[in-house]
Amino acid sequence: GGRLQGKRCFVTAAGQGIGRAAALAFAAEGASVVATDRDPALLAGLGGVETKKLDVLDDAAVAEAIGAAGPLDVLFNCAGFVHQNTALTCTDEEWGFAFALNVRAMWKAVRAALPAMLERERGSIINMASACSSVKGAPNRFLYGTTKAAVVGLTKAVATEHVGRGVRCNCLCPGTVETPSLGERIAANAAASGGLEAARAAFVSRQAMGRLATPGEIAALAVYIASDESAFVTGQALVIDGGWTL
Ligand code: NAD
Repeated sequence: GGRLQGKRCFVTAAGQGIGRAAALAFAAEGASVVATDRDPALLAGLGGVETKKLDVLDDAAVAEAIGAAGPLDVLFNCAGFVHQNTALTCTDEEWGFAFALNVRAMWKAVRAALPAMLERERGSIINMASACSSVKGAPNRFLYGTTKAAVVGLTKAVATEHVGRGVRCNCLCPGTVETPSLGERIAANAAASGGLEAARAAFVSRQAMGRLATPGEIAALAVYIASDESAFVTGQALVIDGGWTL
């Protein structure tokens, strides 16, 4: 059997990027996986997993989907959005959207999954934060870093509330990962950076290793945190950043 044999896993934002890689990695390790995304077209090509359309901004749909999928062993809250702004350029609309998606939706999913986890005294909740959070600041990431720091706080609070009851809660803090949305951010920065290649090089150069992470490398950390191998790990902000924070 695989490292997640017999585990029931639920992943949000599994249509592309890290969520998709994690859903596939969980399944490859023997888990039974429910892969969800707002965009069902992105879920179409996913093999070996159950797929379900889910917009995490819809509280009722989140509760319904998690209830129907459960009881869960693993909840991976991967959905999030990266605004590129500063304290001076951030709008109220961006603020509301980012906190609703990056933080509040995570709380709602945790609340839906927790009762069954506590009842069975087992569960691993994995939240997607970022190295850009309480760990470190990054230019033009005012709102993003603020919400991801809140994810670290949410994670530690949930871990504290349920430590010793078989339920763990950790968050992942990646550096820059090669995903479709990163491509969009690079394109958005191209004009100001002197072209696409220069914009890309700026992202790459932040990682001391001189390259970006692959989604699979982040998924490997998610597998470890999902598995019982990490049974003694809770409340942690796990940095995986190619040396960005060195
Ligand atoms: P991505 O941004 O390329 O894709 C995001 C996915 O989320 C898409 O499939 C999209 O359809 C889905 N989604 C968006 N809004 C949704 C909603 N309301 N409900 C359900 N699904 C929704 O993927 P990514 O870059 O791997 O990012 C995933 C997570 O990882 C995010 O939380 C992001 O902040 C975090 N992260 C990314 C990086 C990076 O460099 N890419 C680094 C650190 C953290």
